[in-house]
Amino acid sequence: MKTPSGDRSPTPPSKSDYDLDHDLDKDLNGDTLREECGVFGIFGHPEAAAITALGLHALQHRGQEAAGIVTYDNGRFHSERRLGLVGDTFSRAEVIARLPGNMAVGHTRYSTTGGTILRNVQPLFAELNAGGFAVGHNGNLTNGLTLRHELVRHGAIMQSTSDTEVILHLVAQSKRGRFIDRYIEALRAIEGAYALVSLTNKKLIGARDPLGIRPLVLGELDGCPILASETCALDIIGAKYVRDIEPGEVIVFDEHGQEIHKPFPPMPPRPCIFEYIYFSRPDSIVGGRSVYEVRKAFGAQLARESHVDVDVVVPVPDSGVPAAIGYSQHSGVPFELGIIRNHYVGRTFIQPTQSVRELGVRMKHAPNRAAIEGKRIILIDDSLVRGTTSKKIVRMMRDAGAREVHFRLASPPILHPDYYGIDLPDRGGLLAATHTLEQMRDIIGADSLAFLSVDGMYRAMGEPGRDASNPKFSDHCFTGAYPTHLTDQTQVEQPPHQLSLLAEAS
Ligand code: SF4
Repeated sequence: MKTPSGDRSPTPPSKSDYDLDHDLDKDLNGDTLREECGVFGIFGHPEAAAITALGLHALQHRGQEAAGIVTYDNGRFHSERRLGLVGDTFSRAEVIARLPGNMAVGHTRYSTTGGTILRNVQPLFAELNAGGFAVGHNGNLTNGLTLRHELVRHGAIMQSTSDTEVILHLVAQSKRGRFIDRYIEALRAIEGAYALVSLTNKKLIGARDPLGIRPLVLGELDGCPILASETCALDIIGAKYVRDIEPGEVIVFDEHGQEIHKPFPPMPPRPCIFEYIYFSRPDSIVGGRSVYEVRKAFGAQLARESHVDVDVVVPVPDSGVPAAIGYSQHSGVPFELGIIRNHYVGRTFIQPTQSVRELGVRMKHAPNRAAIEGKRIILIDDSLVRGTTSKKIVRMMRDAGAREVHFRLASPPILHPDYYGIDLPDRGGLLAATHTLEQMRDIIGADSLAFLSVDGMYRAMGEPGRDASNPKFSDHCFTGAYPTHLTDQTQVEQPPHQLSLLAEAS
């Protein structure tokens, strides 16, 4: 993998890269899920890099560890890839000035395979015999490690530990003539979940996996096509939403217009239902549905399924807020902000002392005593993973004077690990996979505990329930019904370690 002009990537990665990885492991995110990645691409716009930076800023919630942009201009590729938030690098005029050209791809990263080191920061770039090629990937390949071993056996020299790099090598090794045919041949070899944005010296290419597990939308600004993980990235730049890229679709933009390829046999789509539960921003439209409205519907369904007599409904902010609104509206129980979130805790607070770290969740969430003292409350969060943060928040509510605390989750129990680019722990780290409902209630310390049912989740999405013979969504962390081969899990001698996808508050 070659470094394009202007790239600030040192090779090998410096010690400070690893230090940051270590620090991030200790951050105070609690046991919330971590999103995968966000991708963005634009073709034919004179301010391609600046627009891409804004798009990535809107996708920041999908990955906060690193960000990168690659542009092409006048015979050269230009790249800036840095650890840190999008704004840390791309709010600076001198950085944007180093990214000339009217076509760009960008990526904001949270690593699920490969560590947090600069050489893994995307978009990855390689100089192929067919010309330069940059790629940004949201998702995870379920045969990435198997392909990597094969490629290395045949002489490939890998520059990163990212599963995305195998795509570059597969394109490079293809014997096909046209670039797009090489690209499609590479896609046919990979399995798993992917939304890809790619750049050559002439083309912007978007691709979505055959089941559409990860999202990708098409937009338009000043007549220029845009690809983005979510519609919120279009809204921030005033771009028009055109449509979702279809599962299995490959779309190519160049000076002659657009070209669409459908290289896979059609199959029923299985978009990830967790985009609605947690990953996507509530103002995004995913698969034609408002994420905000779906989350409210999850809350209303929860009220239908497991209501108890209480005084107030309190969300765990921010991700529990829409479901709590839906719960409150359906049940008629007043909604109160009983927990105030401090939005300024995170990367800026990178090395707290041990004693400060032990305060843990209080740094991020504070009780609003005025709203909860003496009250019986329903506490609503989007999902339960390890339960550590939930336990602390329940205790915090009681300390602040809540008389009863009933905990409700606006998604079903998470019972199975993810292999598609989401930061979920192995089964042993999932509270619901290893405990009964009553044991969980006891651990969390709530007066009662209930989850949204799987059928209820589908009903809130406007479906009659889950059809086991043809589920409309990828829902395997709840059901175990994995929709693709898990080649690496079955064929590789040592299955790839699922990184500790959740940072626990201590
Ligand atoms: S395991 Fe869960 S989060 Fe991962 S792709 Fe499947 S439904 Fe989405």
